[in-house]
Amino acid sequence: MSRWSHRHVLDLAAFSLADFTTVLELAQRFRSLPTSGARRLPALQGRLVTSLFFEPSTRTRSSFELAARRLSADVQSFSPASSSLSKGESLLDTARTYVAMGADVLVVRHACAGVPAAMARALDRSGERVAVLNGGDGLHSHPSQGLLDLLTLARWFEPTAPTPAALAGKRIVIVGDVLHSRVARSNLWALTACGADVVLCGPATLLPDGFAAFVQAPPPGQAHDPVECRGTIRIVRQLEEALPGADAVMTLRLQQERMHQHLLTSLDTYHRHYGISHQRLELCGKPVPVLHPGPVNRGVELSGALLDDPSCCLVEEQVRNGIPIRMALLYLLAAAEPDPFTAA
Ligand code: ASP
Repeated sequence: MSRWSHRHVLDLAAFSLADFTTVLELAQRFRSLPTSGARRLPALQGRLVTSLFFEPSTRTRSSFELAARRLSADVQSFSPASSSLSKGESLLDTARTYVAMGADVLVVRHACAGVPAAMARALDRSGERVAVLNGGDGLHSHPSQGLLDLLTLARWFEPTAPTPAALAGKRIVIVGDVLHSRVARSNLWALTACGADVVLCGPATLLPDGFAAFVQAPPPGQAHDPVECRGTIRIVRQLEEALPGADAVMTLRLQQERMHQHLLTSLDTYHRHYGISHQRLELCGKPVPVLHPGPVNRGVELSGALLDDPSCCLVEEQVRNGIPIRMALLYLLAAAEPDPFTAA
């Protein structure tokens, strides 16, 4: 395993190719552990992983908690509705309360971009050793989703050696509500770092032209880009132009809870122009996988028949891959041992 230098995981813009390789290698090893019998490794015994989710989640939170348990960590979770937030406690004071209880890792989700990073900075300033893992912040970033998507794609292209190199030169089409998607933003950093060429496809209201220059060097807030040579990003407005030659299609949920203007004519019109079905996929000219981070609006982003077809729709595979990816991240941030398998 190469050297890991991150104290927190906040944004994939900060990852080098070696970082992506480290996470994928470790996740692939965790993934090949037996799925029945004794499934736990002692790697995080005595550590405390706390999930602070200030925004709803079905997959991410339970996947992180399961990942922590599979590494024998103690797990604690916070729920905003029944917490002292409703009595006026600040986010940071809430975080400090869990740190005082001994949290080694805080997995933080919030509707506002930048909350996990602000928490990490404040806790660092006061000398706390806790690691902050971004579980999704506003429109900004969702690193564990970007990494599990990377593992899912790498495994599709190279089932026995799913490294970042499996993505080099691949054309990945990302379709839909890019504007409101932290998943798309994380994937743009991850995919281009691995040398994939990304085609973004959607209506101008959900995919402003500026996204073609999203991956800038250096990334915002960083002194330099940790990746020497990135893949490209191109914007195409019609699926008929985007799909021919694609190697994979990633669809995004229409995030209606974040749309404060009328950005869509109707869900039916969206499906007609941008919905992915078996028939649409034929435009790719070969069998390609389809991803979606979930939750899916069935019959809107994906046809029901495609969503139920595991031969090309990898939605459940993404959920499965989320667990070893999150084990890898928790391990890298919180374990003392250089190798999780030596202590097994
Ligand atoms: N579950 C993903 C997220 O939290 C995608 C979505 O909600 O559409 O960003």
